[in-house]
Amino acid sequence: MNKDQLKKGLTAIKGTRDILPEEAQLWQIVEAMAKSIFELYAYRELRAPVIEPTELFEKGTGASSDIVTKEMYTFNDKGGRSVTLRPEYTPSVVRAIIEHRLDLQGFPLRFYYIGPMFRYDRPQKGRYRQFHQIDVEVFGEKDPAVDAEIVEMAHRLLNKLGVGNVMTLVNSVGCKSCRPTYGQALRKVALESLDKLCPDCQRKAELNPLRIFDCKLETCQKTASTFPLITDFLCAECREHFEKFLSYLDFYGISYKIEPTLVRGLDYYTKTAFEIVTGDLGSQNAICGGGRYDDMVKEFGGPELCGIGFAMGLERLLSVAKISPARKNFVYFAYMGEEAKKESLRVARYLRSKGIECLVEFKDRGLKAHFSRANKIGANWVLIIGEDELSQGKLQIKDMVTSKQHQGTAEELARILTDKRSQ
Ligand code: ATP
Ligand code: MG
Repeated sequence: MNKDQLKKGLTAIKGTRDILPEEAQLWQIVEAMAKSIFELYAYRELRAPVIEPTELFEKGTGASSDIVTKEMYTFNDKGGRSVTLRPEYTPSVVRAIIEHRLDLQGFPLRFYYIGPMFRYDRPQKGRYRQFHQIDVEVFGEKDPAVDAEIVEMAHRLLNKLGVGNVMTLVNSVGCKSCRPTYGQALRKVALESLDKLCPDCQRKAELNPLRIFDCKLETCQKTASTFPLITDFLCAECREHFEKFLSYLDFYGISYKIEPTLVRGLDYYTKTAFEIVTGDLGSQNAICGGGRYDDMVKEFGGPELCGIGFAMGLERLLSVAKISPARKNFVYFAYMGEEAKKESLRVARYLRSKGIECLVEFKDRGLKAHFSRANKIGANWVLIIGEDELSQGKLQIKDMVTSKQHQGTAEELARILTDKRSQ
């Protein structure tokens, strides 16, 4: 089956893709590793819906962000309500905290989640309309030690996955009290340089000049490189927070680069903003982005509760991760005849109860056809049940790699299979 054979209109939606079993195996490894690492830090999984009211992102992600102005998957449902396929996860977690008053509960407000996000962007390598993120959020911790904790946690995961060539870019984008002054200074120079900016950035100059730093066009980046830097405008509190954050990164031995123009694509950041990039990715080099958002919970109508988090792109992560699926016992059943079929089902049921993967296919095959089928699907053991085996009450199992055979009862074979992997 290929694209031309598929009836018109039935192919996958542009920018989405199927993750086929061979690749999905790698996803499972990465997902399991991420979950176990986050749980090591006492983070808990919080699952929110894929669709949310559009206003959630307009208010949370920010009306002048690229995501809200250009990239949202928004439509009206049958009740006429505007809904959006979530482009990012943070606003959903904030909503869940307020709706369930999670701030009143005793458990640590440290959450993680892995799942699909949607952005109506131009699809290209490393950029899809349905993509996946690993997301981490912490609430109620002002201490910059937690900013460093999540960076260290991200590095632990990248390290474990063998991602090389990584660099951490850090910045402080200030807070409600110092950023407005900076915004004014920035607006002034941006309006003076309008002719050197793209139409998009010309609009941002008035609306939210900070966003110009996030433009991917080289000409705009060059113009923005002459603009004043936030570093010179930070208030004493933000400056101290930033310095402490850096000192904790030093403590963990994480090398970083201070990037005063790093503002990130979301409107809500306060103080810490960071990005982890890798030289192995080409132009879409950002693998993880995050920062602090101390005002969002309050702005959504919730209590005074600061927050910080990051999101890691799974597609980009997988394209640079150095992992291969672990070889496991996978037993294919070669049986001949109706009675042997029933015996296969019985033995498979028993072996599965011992955690051994079994495949019984329901096709009449001769022994040779069974073996070529087992080879084709990559089974590493073939369990043979024919008339001889039935009459003797003994089963035979063959290691497909070494060709070694073993004979025994189901119980004996289970012991062999759990003791040793196929070589
Ligand atoms: P970029 O600058 O590459 O557009 P972003 O600032 O929009 O990234 P975030 O919103 O911070 O990214 O999302 C965090 C991570 O999610 C990114 O670092 C990236 O790895 C991944 N990501 C974002 N958008 C996409 C996409 N359209 N397709 C695949 N991965 C994506
Ligand atoms: Mg983007």
